Amino acid sequence: MLTGGVGGARFLTGLRTLLGIDPERPPGEAEHEITAVVNVGDDVWLHGLRITPDLDSCLYTLGGGVDAERGWGRADEGWRLTEELAAYGVEGSWFGLGDRDTATHLIRTQMLQVGYPLSDVVTALSRRWHTGVRLLPVTDDRCETHVEITDPETGERRAVHFQEWWVRYKAQVPTHRFVQVGADKARPAPGVVEAIEQADAVILAPSNPVVSIGPMLAVPGIRGALRTTAAPVVGLSPIIGGAVVRGMADICLQTLGVGVDAESVGRMYGGRSEGGLLDGWLVADGDTAEIEGVRVGQAPLLMSDDAATAEMARAALGLVGVTA
Ligand code: GDP
Ligand code: CA
Repeated sequence: MLTGGVGGARFLTGLRTLLGIDPERPPGEAEHEITAVVNVGDDVWLHGLRITPDLDSCLYTLGGGVDAERGWGRADEGWRLTEELAAYGVEGSWFGLGDRDTATHLIRTQMLQVGYPLSDVVTALSRRWHTGVRLLPVTDDRCETHVEITDPETGERRAVHFQEWWVRYKAQVPTHRFVQVGADKARPAPGVVEAIEQADAVILAPSNPVVSIGPMLAVPGIRGALRTTAAPVVGLSPIIGGAVVRGMADICLQTLGVGVDAESVGRMYGGRSEGGLLDGWLVADGDTAEIEGVRVGQAPLLMSDDAATAEMARAALGLVGVTA
């Protein structure tokens, strides 16, 4: 599965339930295995720490440590560190660094600084968070999403890191385009292409198509693996009834000139027979889509609880003829 943070992580818990994977049991014992290839476009250096929001959302959500209300970050979090940074007025204090969350960032940063690749860091952190899912960053290389905006203060065009656009500006600035910095030199992390090639099915999570799935498709080799895998590729729409369920995917799509509806997003991914990626596209009950070469299915797509999410996963796999 290809996934972003909050939306994708939630979907992973349902898929895990559907496949009967017990996260407390050692991997290898279960009949089914899930590999999650995770977006790193949101990753950022702040205050000397390397922060990987989408990987952490997957770790904390699957590991039972997430703040359920926010949907991201650690449960029972404290913000004294952020308050202290803000009191100094340092650059970047618009980004909340939770006290508990920062322990994860410290370990990650230390490991990266002595030379471990990010994929090894994720493996090490997963020893605490029993996720029942193999989490792989799409790449170990730096490959960040930056956003070209018109600065609201100076009126000039400049590029900002995705986090500055998302968290500081809340996407409420004139936005011109997204750029994947480093994508040209990035390579898929070890195991990513193999996982796509050897899967029984590849799922595109109902994640943000522009800033979660898009940045992964920009890593050379990923699109090719999706196009040539023998496995069927099925996606789930993050857009229901012409609106995002949460987040700012609508603004992202509008920036690209893509309609905020399930059909437009499916067409953006495209049918495999037409040079795109999809064999199947699951839209919400009440939505429709006609996409050349793609089997379109309808199902309730609200992840209201784990059982509903597991049913979504069942419908997605069933659409491409895979029974769980
Ligand atoms: P992020 O990296 O934390 O932004 O998370 P993702 O990119 O993985 O997921 C964000 C996307 O999930 C948003 O575009 C939402 O519209 C979508 N989403 C959130 N909840 C639901 C849901 O219950 N059903 C569906 N179909 N999409 C959802
Ligand atoms: Ca994200």
